[in-house]
Amino acid sequence: MTTQIKVGEITIHRVVEQEAPFFAALEFFPTLTPELLEENLSWLQPKYIDPATGKLVLCVQSYIVRTPHHNILIDSCVGNHKPRPTRPFWNMLASDRYEKNLAATGLGVGDIDYVMCTHLHTDHVGWNTRLENGRWVPTFPKAKYLFADRELAHWTEQEEKDPVNHPWITDSVLPIMAARRAEVVKSDHRLNELVELIPTPGHTIDHYSVHVGKAGQDALITGDMIHSPLQARYPELGMRADYDSRQAGESRRKVFDRFCDSATLMCMAHFPSPSMGRLARWEEGYKFTSV
Ligand SMILES: [Zn+2]
Repeated sequence: MTTQIKVGEITIHRVVEQEAPFFAALEFFPTLTPELLEENLSWLQPKYIDPATGKLVLCVQSYIVRTPHHNILIDSCVGNHKPRPTRPFWNMLASDRYEKNLAATGLGVGDIDYVMCTHLHTDHVGWNTRLENGRWVPTFPKAKYLFADRELAHWTEQEEKDPVNHPWITDSVLPIMAARRAEVVKSDHRLNELVELIPTPGHTIDHYSVHVGKAGQDALITGDMIHSPLQARYPELGMRADYDSRQAGESRRKVFDRFCDSATLMCMAHFPSPSMGRLARWEEGYKFTSV
């Protein structure tokens, strides 16, 4: 399984927490018709859609980007010991898989300089914190955690109004603020000449992707601006948890148009292993080919 790849002077690792058939395609993409799904099954099965269950095969994972200056962890998955009553497969996880896969990169929690959350959904913030003597403390003790300002404002407001239905903000975002490890930035923030955020709103209000490297030797860590290669072929195809599916479609068109037919390595959050690949034009949309 490809879990590590070099892009110029940068190394990108994947740290997988889960990989399994999770959701029925027609529920996950509410406007997808059975006819359109059928038309595409020949290339979606068995890798992207499990033939036995008809469910989308998805990965839950972090990317670690090692530059000459920093170790950056992007999206922190679901986490352990977290109550997620509405999501049985994420509720109260107690697995050593994530920590073992992190150790396999050769990096420890103390080696991470930045944690970047592309957005603040439950499967992207979980390992921000870990349980210590009954308290949620930052998992990565030296890291600065980068949150987009409008994304953070949106979710903290939701949590304040309705904490019962936003437990991941309570246990995985607010403790980072309290520990003063957060760095609140604009979603087009530039860290240095090798790392910049690109606004990709729509799936959430202020979602960002992370562009790393130099021209010709670069990669885009997409977060949830895309969930399946079906949304490359049909960029306007929204998923059920989108904040604004129309805007998400516009973000996909813009980003795919910029990075298709180039060397840019696309590192997708939820695509099944190896999750990374390149985009080329395909009729009115784009074709994803994995590395
Ligand atoms: Zn996600």
